[in-house]
Amino acid sequence: MLDADFFRRWMTVTAASVDREAERLTALDSPIGDADHGSNLQRGFTAVTAALEKETPDTPGGVLTLAGRQLISTVGGASGPLYGTLLRRTGKALGDAAEVSADQLAQALRAGVDAVMTLGGATPGDATMIDALVPAVDALGTSFSAARTAAEEGAVATTPMQARKGRASYVGERSIGHQDPGATSSALLVAALAEAAGE
Ligand code: ADP
Ligand code: MG
Repeated sequence: MLDADFFRRWMTVTAASVDREAERLTALDSPIGDADHGSNLQRGFTAVTAALEKETPDTPGGVLTLAGRQLISTVGGASGPLYGTLLRRTGKALGDAAEVSADQLAQALRAGVDAVMTLGGATPGDATMIDALVPAVDALGTSFSAARTAAEEGAVATTPMQARKGRASYVGERSIGHQDPGATSSALLVAALAEAAGE
């Protein structure tokens, strides 16, 4: 079973990984966007870890809804409300249980990813974070490490796609040949989940 400490670990491992990869995320956002994806997420996850230290929520749902709220209020770019919605909706689906199973987490994350698709209007193939998140949620029924692999492959698979949502869609066909920054950071989020689970 997964308790609040597990979810706190997921968020702190994500924050560390975003710090480490911030330059790369921003570099990916430079040819097809406005070169701020790394700094956006760094600001957001720094706020997440600070809030989690201050408020210490004691349920998985409480950890994720607090994290989601921080992302929405501190990240200016499109990715803030989208990641914020992902974590808030996932947290809400977990309710106020003190511990949840991996299956419950997989179901809750699916609700979270669905909420991101409703909010942003993207579906698989549009070259967004959805292209990493949907295969990850599909693979989560197998294992955390299968989800990590699926997310990484999903991020790489955005390279030949033309972006159809968000800022990268403004450059039209010129987005082809560039890996999507948000799909790349989603792969970091899923890798952090596997790391938090010790896989
Ligand atoms: P901004 O585009 O406002 O500068 P970021 O650079 O932080 O925001 O994030 C860009 C990422 O957000 C993209 O790489 C993409 O994965 C994701 N994104 C943008 N718009 C959407 C959308 N409508 N649906 C899903 N993901 C989106
Ligand atoms: Mg940007």
